[in-house]
Amino acid sequence: MTQSNGQVQGQSAFQSQAQTAGIHHITAFVRDPQVTSDFYAGVLGLRLVKKTINFDAPEVYHLYFGDQAGSPGTIITFFPWKDSRKGVIGAGQVGITTYVVPDGSLGFWRERLARLGVEAQESERFGEQYLGFADPDGLRGEIVARAEGANSEWSFGGVPADQAIKGFGGAVLFSGAPESTGKLLENVMGLTKVGEDVGYVRYRSFGDLGNIIDVNATAMAAGHGGHGTVHHIAWRAKDDAEHALWRSHVAASGYQPTPIVDRQYFNALYFREEGGILFEIATDPPGFARDEEPEHLGETLMLPEWYEKNRAEIEALLTPFTVRELEGN
Ligand code: ZN
Repeated sequence: MTQSNGQVQGQSAFQSQAQTAGIHHITAFVRDPQVTSDFYAGVLGLRLVKKTINFDAPEVYHLYFGDQAGSPGTIITFFPWKDSRKGVIGAGQVGITTYVVPDGSLGFWRERLARLGVEAQESERFGEQYLGFADPDGLRGEIVARAEGANSEWSFGGVPADQAIKGFGGAVLFSGAPESTGKLLENVMGLTKVGEDVGYVRYRSFGDLGNIIDVNATAMAAGHGGHGTVHHIAWRAKDDAEHALWRSHVAASGYQPTPIVDRQYFNALYFREEGGILFEIATDPPGFARDEEPEHLGETLMLPEWYEKNRAEIEALLTPFTVRELEGN
């Protein structure tokens, strides 16, 4: 058999069985790096695993928070854009980011959010209890407790590792075309439809973090981008070889993926789905220890090689901030 036949067979086998493990990362717009760090590290207890810049706009930070390593499925990332307009959460976006904590930890988080002045709303869907909240920019998050998924090894600001956020439980997608988005999740991304409850259709992937995706069952008003909204959701590809197969698979399924771009800590491709949500597919490797020691992740402003010569000018444009514990935690 020729090599090209082997490649074609590999591609068609992939297309019939393609499955992402789940969410790799979610990226959102905020205003202020200190405010964002005080919430995601100070309140939620996540680790700042990388302090870098938006490679397409080097005057803006790109901040990555996650578990101790910034493992795929745990990474919430931010572009703090000081003078950005306020966004509106609605169709065409990830509406709610779901964080998962160990079974039995919801009471800890209920008490902690109340003590730190974060208003929480309790709700239930698919038989699970959720604590919903808004971050200081209005981004919607929620906490759910589940047994699946490894505990975080990170402990910060009064959050012991055994109660800490493990990563994403998943996300709630607000789609402008929920049926199409659901078909994409099932037929292209390889998720399985679970059922419907309280206005949401649930899909599940095989991973144990970032694996449960709820989509609005009926039409909703469109959102628009700006601070306090999610920019995109990235799904996992296990390596560069699988990433290339994903690109062909997405294109063959009728979407227009971008070329593969180097994001230093993963490779990425992007496409817009019919519901208006920007999807990315990102590789698990190389991860955040590629340019910093695991014990020192997030401590230094890291720039890709092509920006190092401009380090002084870039640093002058960025507002310094510190990852700090909050009083009263
Ligand atoms: Zn991304």
